[in-house]
Amino acid sequence: MSEAVRPRLVIMGRQGAGKGTQCELLSAHYGIDHLSTGDVLRAAVAEGSELGVKAKGFMDAGDLVPDELITDIVASRVGGEHAAAGFLLDGFPRNVGQAEALVAMMEPAGLHACVNLDVEESVVRERMMARGREDDTPEAIDRRLELYAQETAPLFDFFDNRGLLLVCDGFGEVEDISARLIASIDQAIAGS
Ligand code: AMP
Repeated sequence: MSEAVRPRLVIMGRQGAGKGTQCELLSAHYGIDHLSTGDVLRAAVAEGSELGVKAKGFMDAGDLVPDELITDIVASRVGGEHAAAGFLLDGFPRNVGQAEALVAMMEPAGLHACVNLDVEESVVRERMMARGREDDTPEAIDRRLELYAQETAPLFDFFDNRGLLLVCDGFGEVEDISARLIASIDQAIAGS
């Protein structure tokens, strides 16, 4: 029997789209690491490390941290010899510069797919207000949604142009969404 493919995946979607839950299910299903750049940065802030001190102000304002603070960390976790183990990247890339850096660091293995977990803005806004995270002030939520539209949404074209974009409806029951995601990822892997 051939060994199962360890997919190299990016998951995108507005904050509050349910990415965290779906990432847990996907990483267990495929046996791959889930790397959330938001979690890495929050851990750095909690530790008070140099990265955390530099990142905190940007995060509290709902702004993106500068690319150079995060790109090397991602490369050290998914690039080079790590590519074969597969991964699920969540929260990166957030802009075209990061996407270009990701494509470069994935040479020669390449990505299998970028999935957009699609949930309407009005729905995610309500969910973010309800979850009550420390950085979920109304101003920060507005800023993050604005930045998502300006900086991150152009990545759909970026990945679509490379034949890597999958769009999955993120509204509904957790199990149904997960089944849809797995079916579309499996199809992409089979065709890659
Ligand atoms: P998240 O948990 O993905 O919503 O990220 C929380 C915060 O961390 C964001 O609002 C940004 O300030 C910062 N952040 C996470 N990932 C990135 C990234 N790839 N580039 C820049 N900033 C990021």
